[in-house]
Amino acid sequence: MILVVNAGSSSIKFKLFDISNSSNPISKVEGLAERISVDGRLTIEIEGEKHEFNNQMNDHLDAVQLILNKFTELKVIEKPEDIKGIGFRIVHGGDKVVKPVEITDEIKKTIEENIRLAPLHNPGALTSINAFEKSLPNAKLVGCFDTSYHQTMPEVNYMYTVPYEWYSKYQVRKYGFHGISYEYIAFKAQEIFNKKQENLNLIVCHLGNGASVCAIKNGKSFNTTMGLTPLAGLMMGTRSGDIDPSIIQYISKETGKDLFEITDILNKQSGLQGISEISSDMRDVIEQSTKGNDKASLAVELYTQIVADFIVKFANQINDKIDGIIFTAGIGENAALIREKITQKSNLLGLVIDSQLNEEKYSDYLNISSKESKISILKVRTNEELMICNETLKFL
Ligand code: ADP
Repeated sequence: MILVVNAGSSSIKFKLFDISNSSNPISKVEGLAERISVDGRLTIEIEGEKHEFNNQMNDHLDAVQLILNKFTELKVIEKPEDIKGIGFRIVHGGDKVVKPVEITDEIKKTIEENIRLAPLHNPGALTSINAFEKSLPNAKLVGCFDTSYHQTMPEVNYMYTVPYEWYSKYQVRKYGFHGISYEYIAFKAQEIFNKKQENLNLIVCHLGNGASVCAIKNGKSFNTTMGLTPLAGLMMGTRSGDIDPSIIQYISKETGKDLFEITDILNKQSGLQGISEISSDMRDVIEQSTKGNDKASLAVELYTQIVADFIVKFANQINDKIDGIIFTAGIGENAALIREKITQKSNLLGLVIDSQLNEEKYSDYLNISSKESKISILKVRTNEELMICNETLKFL
């Protein structure tokens, strides 16, 4: 078995894979330990059937032990040692980590050093790594970083136009995120297009709560919209994406809020939520927009215009034949209206969607472009957990 873990400061999300057939890992068990250090709630879902436990969890170690005990009780595993590998999703690896790595003391130090770049994400990963290390000392621990896939970006795409010293002294540069998802899509695209990864040029729109676009040139990340942090680029559920940086000083003067409060608003109360004043959830925004709510409609128009503008910019940068425009993650996989508007607004590229295929149900992926489209358009279901499982498997 391989356990895939995505940990936050008070939660551990997990998915257990059976690797008996290593070329086809299967997962029937997933769950979430949450409210760690508050009170504690654990949910384990086995083939869709939910088991809930309200047990006090004082820290991540308590949570890990409860998960392993319940796995044994529920006969998901015979004994904790059946878990041979644990793959961790880690948000920030800075510019040192360029691929999945076995977790060593040095890697833990790198995760710690990068806490200043990802204060909300890296601490949870580190505490959960320590907890699993203590609980399963013989398991292989592997880290997959959201930033590492983007380490192939050329300098001209990752440098900011600020004093060079900010880069050399403080590592201010574009790092990019959602790398595990992009790597999965680039891998899957080999099967979809029947081409080797190094021969693929793609523009992938990962549109979830957090959202970004990635230009994949010759199978590698060439540019992406997120930056030093995930706040940059597209309009998102609650994040603003790119704005004029002077707005921060101006709003501070007007409202008396300090720059931490304002950055918090840009992260948590902007984007779809901020414009629509209804919700950060695209389903709610679309529903209200179709009922004639002007702010909801504005949110949809802004959202789709910004994605389209980046698609066109990235096509210009790839400057070669593009195999496909791919939509993935919650909104990209499910919201037909959003895909349609984005492709309609990518004027220079001659994208034409087949409206019936756009609405059609699918399992893994579906080509939704019409015959006239100059570039194929696809909806593809991402699978970050499977990607992490496969990477972990390589170390076993
Ligand atoms: P996360 O970044 O948290 O993993 P997801 O990838 O699950 O997020 O995406 C969540 C987003 O997907 C939400 O805005 C949600 O409204 C949207 N979404 C999910 N299903 C649909 C749907 N059928 N139509 C429109 N939006 C959808």
